[in-house]
Amino acid sequence: MHRMLKETPPLAIDDQVEAGRLEALDRFDVMDTPREEAFDRITRLIKNIFELPIAIVSMIDGHRQWYKAYEGLENREVARDATFCKYTLHDMTPLIVPDARDDARFAQNPMVTAGPRIRFYAGAPLRTHDGHNIGTVCAIGFEPRAFTARESAILSDLAGLAMDALELRQQASLDSLTGALSRRAFKEQAAQAIALAQRHRHGLACIAFDLDHFKSINDRHGHATGDKVLVAVAEACRAQLRGSDLFGRLGGEEFALVLPHTDRAHMSGVAEKVREAIEQIAIRNGQTRVPVTSSFGMAALDARTSDIDALLANADAALYEAKAAGRNRCVAWLQVNDMPASPRRRVLKAGRILFNNRMSSIDCTVRTLGEDGAGLDISSSIGVPETFSLAIRSDALEARCRIVSQTERRIEVEFC
Ligand code: GH3
Ligand code: MG
Ligand code: MG
Repeated sequence: MHRMLKETPPLAIDDQVEAGRLEALDRFDVMDTPREEAFDRITRLIKNIFELPIAIVSMIDGHRQWYKAYEGLENREVARDATFCKYTLHDMTPLIVPDARDDARFAQNPMVTAGPRIRFYAGAPLRTHDGHNIGTVCAIGFEPRAFTARESAILSDLAGLAMDALELRQQASLDSLTGALSRRAFKEQAAQAIALAQRHRHGLACIAFDLDHFKSINDRHGHATGDKVLVAVAEACRAQLRGSDLFGRLGGEEFALVLPHTDRAHMSGVAEKVREAIEQIAIRNGQTRVPVTSSFGMAALDARTSDIDALLANADAALYEAKAAGRNRCVAWLQVNDMPASPRRRVLKAGRILFNNRMSSIDCTVRTLGEDGAGLDISSSIGVPETFSLAIRSDALEARCRIVSQTERRIEVEFC
């Protein structure tokens, strides 16, 4: 059958909306994480309820759609440009495509004309509380099909369940009293931060601190007041940190920080700021102000200290010295720092690789960004030339780049 379809213009992407969306996605820290039952259950439900062969819970970053959970598919990601789901990113309600061959947006899509030969698509946006669409929950079939309003409402509810699961997943890694990372989450995230620091040769510092004479605060003012102090300490600490810093509650009144892009020369400044902020905490028990102070130990990543346990051990040793020297002070673990500093920020931004006199372009996701270079995620590094221009639309930035290293899906570049 020959179908006459009007050409549709390419989907316009609002750079600021996209930047906010990617920031929201980044907060969930979910891309490339292992499968989890809460999400697998949702795709099983979709398949069973709608009796369709393919079900997906997906997130969309700068250049790809990545599946947190999927049924009926082989690959775990697909280039963003090729997806149906990119059209759901702008809507609050599900996108229903009863027959893709009748829809100008999809009729020429390779997944319709060849490959799996998709005919039916229903996708509901994964929408955060603050209104960012970070992904989709979708149901896909190989036959044209109607989708009732009731079915559409069920799909929306399943998207809501997936969002709840994402929120829960995030909360589970947080300590319920203080909102700091749990020990497990802290160590996991610290290990990732350390791996990045080693790969990109930027500095990283670890700070451990322990409240002074906390037992006597509990004894004198009661456990509830002790809890209030812990909450206030966490707030005071967080107010001094960058978004990319890790803040964990490792024990009762023991906390730790991992500061990416911070070298030995700068870690004392951060520790001192946090120490002062804690000293300023004004919690009262009746007329009495509860004095709160804390002791700090600091250690920097170097060639000999290469994992979070080693870093924490050094920071703890320095913390012990701070206690012994009279408390309410910061002490650094002394060692040689032989890692050259070349700071990079961890980001999640949509980027575009331009080459061949700007005639060719490839979407990418910028994962690290510094003065002198960047780390890019792409669907495939095959065909990317040695030098190219990188455009980051949300930052109105364009930089000439040279590839320093590359794997199949990752490119490190220096600006030239
Ligand atoms: P130091 O300066 O040497 O660290 O003295 P300290 O009193 O902090 O010594 P210690 O580490 O022995 O005491 C820690 C106390 O913290 C003991 C414990 O009852 C209390 N604690 C642990 N977890 C919590 C909690 O969640 N809430 C409250 N209120 N207290 C807690
Ligand atoms: Mg202690
Ligand atoms: Mg203590």
